[in-house]
Amino acid sequence: MTLVAPLADVSSFLGRSHRLWIGGQWEDAADGRTFVTDNPATGNPLATVARAGAGDVDRAVRAARRAFDDGRWSAMAPSARSRIVWRIGDLILEHTEELAQLETLDNGKPLSVARAGDVPMAADLFHYMAGWVTKLEGNTLPVSLPGEFHAYTRREPVGVVGQIVPWNFPLALAAWKLAPALATGNCIVLKPAEDTPLTALRLAELIAEAGVPDGVLNVITGFGEDAGAALVAHDDVDKVSFTGSTEVGRSLVRAAAGNLKRLTLELGGKSPNIILEDADVEAAIRGAADGIFFNQGEACVAGSRLFVHRRIADDVVAGIADIARQMRLGDGMALDTEMGPVVSQTHQNRVSGYIRAGLEEGATLVAGDEGTPEGGWFVRPTVFSGVRPDMRIVREEIFGPVVSVTSFDDDDQAVAMANDTRYGLAAGIWGRDLSRVHRLAARIKAGTVWVNCYGVLDASMPFGGYKESGWGREHGHQVLSEYTETKSVCIQL
Ligand code: NAD
Repeated sequence: MTLVAPLADVSSFLGRSHRLWIGGQWEDAADGRTFVTDNPATGNPLATVARAGAGDVDRAVRAARRAFDDGRWSAMAPSARSRIVWRIGDLILEHTEELAQLETLDNGKPLSVARAGDVPMAADLFHYMAGWVTKLEGNTLPVSLPGEFHAYTRREPVGVVGQIVPWNFPLALAAWKLAPALATGNCIVLKPAEDTPLTALRLAELIAEAGVPDGVLNVITGFGEDAGAALVAHDDVDKVSFTGSTEVGRSLVRAAAGNLKRLTLELGGKSPNIILEDADVEAAIRGAADGIFFNQGEACVAGSRLFVHRRIADDVVAGIADIARQMRLGDGMALDTEMGPVVSQTHQNRVSGYIRAGLEEGATLVAGDEGTPEGGWFVRPTVFSGVRPDMRIVREEIFGPVVSVTSFDDDDQAVAMANDTRYGLAAGIWGRDLSRVHRLAARIKAGTVWVNCYGVLDASMPFGGYKESGWGREHGHQVLSEYTETKSVCIQL
């Protein structure tokens, strides 16, 4: 296994002290606390990072508030703001290799995935949102009041926005939130996940280089229970956009009640992937394997419940198990690695606990006990068949490379099983009869339904969850309403 040597820029970045980005300056946490982020492929320390507390969060919120209130960003000519947002996308692309290496070292994912997926997707979000800056229009309103009136609406930024992201796509998910918030003129305090703080810090520098004024973006690294909780509870934060687990999302609803701040919640999933008997079976097997094993299964949309028509179920299970057994696990910095380690030892224990629970509850392990590389936090891609709907591996989000396969006999049964979950983030359908597929897509309670593909995301496609998978949508023009208030102005003539 040959590892790609880190770029000189990556090594020098890792060697720096990593502080909080507040008001356009690097600052230590007020109490001087730090934490260590490690490389999941080796377990070795990677960098030491400032650990923000409530006082630091308050400093960052005040910097964002000052920047918002003096209009240095929100009152900038839309064409100028648009060019800056576009330039962020360009700078991300210019630094693709550096950002991809940092992401792989901090998160563990294969470098090939970070290069082709995470970094271009982040750039794409800024390029897409740059186009909206000059198109945030209001309406003139046909009021029916007696007398003469001129009434219209304005779209205004919400104000100071707190953004909290998880560790599975650290750079890309930061971009999902930053691009629309910046495009609509908001000022931001971003908190990356404690497991993967590094690319957000580098992105802050690129955003400043693109021309975003000081104080518009602030980045506080730290833990959820102190920095994250303080941000959500802060009375001068107008909105929080959160991506993470449903459990933490639920606690945010309570914490946000103080000043009734707006909330966008992108939460967990337990997504069904349905293979009909007329599907292109080979493509469906490949797609279902990618749908669960991509990014070590650390994807909110992971197709973790696979439903296969009984007539083809044996072939599908055998096909996915083959792919699982042959998958090359290793350090993400090796170019032939197909699956990296999971993000941390804690998470490895959690995923392994689910695999044990599956065995204890009587599921059949078809693939997954072939052994893992030494050193890092690896979990083998795992396939269970013979599962029951009440098993924990079927009901709970594992957030690892573990799929459970169930067979069905007709469409009603497939829909009932697919919808038998508290989540509703995404779903897949594989089949050739498109009329049947359209009918099924309408009956599945999920924010995204992929047909004959899986996990495909685009900046133009609204993304978000039904049920306990969250509130609101990211991407597309729909996200603009998450970051703007609509004001009616009514003038008597
Ligand atoms: P998590 O909820 O533990 O943490 C997510 C973020 O929230 C981290 O930055 C963490 O520091 C912060 N946090 C934790 N406790 C907090 C608190 N009390 N107050 C404020 N912030 C707090 O989730 P995770 O384990 O890091 O990520 C995995 C989860 O994220 C999975 O459930 C996955 O489905 C979900 N996810 C959802 C989407 C989506 O778009 N729907 C995308 C990716 C991941």
